[in-house]
Amino acid sequence: MLPNKTMQNAEKTILVVEDEPDLATAIAQRISARGWNARVASDGATAVKAAKELKPDLIIMDIMLPVMDGIEATKRIVSTQAVPVLMLTARDSETDKIRGLGSGADDYMTKPFSVRELIARCEALFRRINRAAEIAKNIENEKKLEFGSIIIDPQQRSVTVNDEAVHLTPTEFDLLVTLARKPRTVFKRETLLAEVWDWPDASGTRTVDSHVKALRHKLGNKVIETTHGVGYSFEPPEDVKE
Ligand code: CA
Repeated sequence: MLPNKTMQNAEKTILVVEDEPDLATAIAQRISARGWNARVASDGATAVKAAKELKPDLIIMDIMLPVMDGIEATKRIVSTQAVPVLMLTARDSETDKIRGLGSGADDYMTKPFSVRELIARCEALFRRINRAAEIAKNIENEKKLEFGSIIIDPQQRSVTVNDEAVHLTPTEFDLLVTLARKPRTVFKRETLLAEVWDWPDASGTRTVDSHVKALRHKLGNKVIETTHGVGYSFEPPEDVKE
């Protein structure tokens, strides 16, 4: 195998926030073997500090942590940085997952999990982010999507509502753009999961629901409409003159 530094993606840094030393080491070793850089933090407060200093490309965040839990740490981090977060939850309860995703996490895994699968999920997250960047680059001068008070800029990956910047996580942004490129078109959850998350399996459709909830919280309830039993659509705000 080639030394890490000559491998592709060697520049990617992943912050592993995990208080079980054996697990943290196992994850960090697998990350290094994949050719990425791994850094470990063992509590939430250290993670917030490390995220600011390291500017990692991805964060793997355990929920149950000393000092500050993973939910609070994630909230603090994603309020100032556009970094994808993959959350580790100890209990297989929907509440935990939904809370985790509501805090700004992009994906989650339930313990116990295979470290190999965790790496595969990281790769999927990176693929998705690269693809979104490629799409924005390839659509030369892709126009801003303007809907009255809501303006979405795919190139800058920014959103404003009434000229005020709204901070979205990378996943929330990709979900919004996917819906807003075809306003009033109902997308099935499975379609959104495949397009936005790059997940081939439909078991994670609740993930879509919790991200829609987060978008509604940030942009207003009426922006995304639910068609029961079908899926979601972007509804331009009423101030749009047509
Ligand atoms: Ca823990």
